[in-house]
Formats: sequence, structure tokens, C-alpha cells
Amino acid sequence: MTATADGGEPAVSKGTVHLVHLYPREMSIYGDLGNTRALASRLRWHGYSAVVHDHHPGAPWPEQVHLVLGGGGQDSGQARVQEDLAVQADRLRGLAADGVPMLMICGMYQLFGQAFVTAEGRRLPGLGILDVTTTGNPTRMIGPVVLDTPIGQVVGYENHSGATVLGEGQEPFGRVRHGQGNNGTDGTEGARTGNVIGSYLHGPILPANPALSDHLLELAATRATGSWEPAEVDDSIAEQAHQRQVRRLLRG
Ligand code: GLN
Repeated sequence: MTATADGGEPAVSKGTVHLVHLYPREMSIYGDLGNTRALASRLRWHGYSAVVHDHHPGAPWPEQVHLVLGGGGQDSGQARVQEDLAVQADRLRGLAADGVPMLMICGMYQLFGQAFVTAEGRRLPGLGILDVTTTGNPTRMIGPVVLDTPIGQVVGYENHSGATVLGEGQEPFGRVRHGQGNNGTDGTEGARTGNVIGSYLHGPILPANPALSDHLLELAATRATGSWEPAEVDDSIAEQAHQRQVRRLLRG
């Protein structure tokens, strides 16, 4: 575990929020590290201090945790973090049950489910925090995505061989307006239980979806400080990028 105070702290901080990034070496492909950077920067813009803890396999768990992030990875990367994930399983399940916000993308989304069975038939057990099961396929699902979610419209980019099926009663993260989503057939994307969100969307997802970022930060800052006092943030460039993708994909 390495902890780094994010540079450029506000002169008068509204409080310190601790972010944990799970396995940034093995599980951060397609720019998913950008989610952690986006949240740390955004916290600063809102007047909070951010501490990012990179959690590596075998390292001790940080004392304070207000939000947990995980990214995508190759099947081989997923296999490399298995052992540590088993060590941290009860802790992560406890934090999830306690309402700690978490965002798990692609490979880590699969490992937060019941299991991921690779295209070669290897079964990687998951944490079971999300009631989803994934099976690898020879054909990958690749391309830009637009979703409708309870937090608003979300844009991103998917690239996965795993097809994910939701358990009975498992809420998806969103409904697919464009793209494949969990499996290309049932119109669902990702999964959500309490404050834990799993999704296939890279991009990275957070910079182009500021409302989703602030949703996570509100939960994290409230845990850390007892309240959420956002500042005015200029999201015009992010909104442009977001709207451009929506226009291109939904309105032809
Ligand atoms: N290995 C997984 C799959 O292809 C995850 C891929 C990813 O994280 N981008 O389904």
C-alpha cells in the first residue's frame, strides 16, 4: 500500500477523504486509473483533501477508507490478484454492507460477482458482493456505450470477452441505449447493490460523467466528514464530450 496526498490541496480543507485503488498494477487497463485521478482532482475542486492509497497484493490494508475503486484487467491480471482478494474478501464484504461507495470496472466488476469462468474454462471465484456470474466467450464485446441509469445518462467504452448474467433480483447499473452491456442480449449493463456499482465501462468512465463522480464523492465525503458541501465546478468540457458521444450514437 502506498499513500499519496494528492497535490494542490485547497488552502482551507473541508476535510480529508481516503480513496483506495485496488491493484493499480494488475487491474487498470484502458485508462481506468483515470477514475482515481478524476475523483482526487474533483475532491480538491470541491475544497476537500484527497489521499489515494494504492493497494497492491500482500500489502496491509489502509486504516481509513471512504471509497474503493477497481479497474479492468486481462484474465491473467485477474488471476494474479485472486489470492489477495481472498485475503481481503471479508473486509470488502463488510465495507460494502456498511455502505462504503465502490466503483468496480470490467475485470474487477467480474471479480466482485459470484465467479468468472474464463474462455479456457478456468473458474475464478468472486467476492459475491454483486450477484452476477460471468463466462468468457471467443467473441469480444467492443465499442462505445450509452446507458440510462438512476444517476442519469452515462457514456463509456466497453471491451470484454466475459458475458455477465444478473442473478434473480440483482439490480443492473443501467439499461443499454447503445452497445452490448452485460451480455449483448438482455439490455442490462453492470450491477448495483447498495452503494457498490459494477460496470464494464471504460473511457475512463468518471471524467466524462461528472454526475456519477459527484454521486460517489457525496457518499464518500459524507462518510469522511459528516456532510457534503460541493463547490461550483466548471464541467463544460466534460459535458461537451459526454453530449457528443450521446449525439453520435443515439441520433445518428
Ligand atoms: N478479462 C475480462 C474480459 O475480457 C476483463 C476485461 C477487462 O477488464 N477489460 O471479460
